Amino acid sequence: LLIVVEGIDGTGKSSQVQLLADALRSSGHDVLQDRQPSDGPFGKILRKSMTEGRLAPDEELELFHKDRRQHLEDVILPALDSGTHVVLDRYYFSTMAYQGANGYDVAELRATNEAFAPAPDILFILDLDVDQALKRIGHRGDEANAFEQRDALQFCRDVFLSVKEEAYANVINSEPSMEEIHREMLSIAQAAI
Ligand code: C5P
Repeated sequence: LLIVVEGIDGTGKSSQVQLLADALRSSGHDVLQDRQPSDGPFGKILRKSMTEGRLAPDEELELFHKDRRQHLEDVILPALDSGTHVVLDRYYFSTMAYQGANGYDVAELRATNEAFAPAPDILFILDLDVDQALKRIGHRGDEANAFEQRDALQFCRDVFLSVKEEAYANVINSEPSMEEIHREMLSIAQAAI
């Protein structure tokens, strides 16, 4: 199965990816834990762009798509074909959310991605109120760009929630403890595997 975990910063997404992959492995499944942007050549450029000063939005968007195509072709699809489950930290829903927040049309981003990227079997949307998320990532309300950042995160949260009616989607309230969230996600994954 292709199991994707999405959510805005502060929801504990990456920790949950790790816990889920470990738990599935412990119960005897072959699991590949991975992330997008990937660790391939295009993904590396993107990660650098996100930490060391951003490329132009058009350039970034093109790289997100190149990275996703390459990662699917070289890593994800071969793993799935060999019976390995893939637990993926971010996928095209993040492109819809973050590049959507940059001004690109969300429906178009979705269509572009769904033309080449298979839908997940399970999508976990880790959901948290934006003010709580900002508190968790340690941003005070008095920063110059606080409003802008809050608006962008709210936009991303809304985009993630906009796919909640899909059969594969599971909205997970990210307020409870890591352990509680993990148990909820694991039971959904176990039931589907
Ligand atoms: O997944 P992770 O928390 O490492 O993502 C870090 C940041 O990368 C996000 O907060 C977001 O600003 C950025 N990002 C992005 N576009 C994507 C995926 C991530 O701008 N498609």
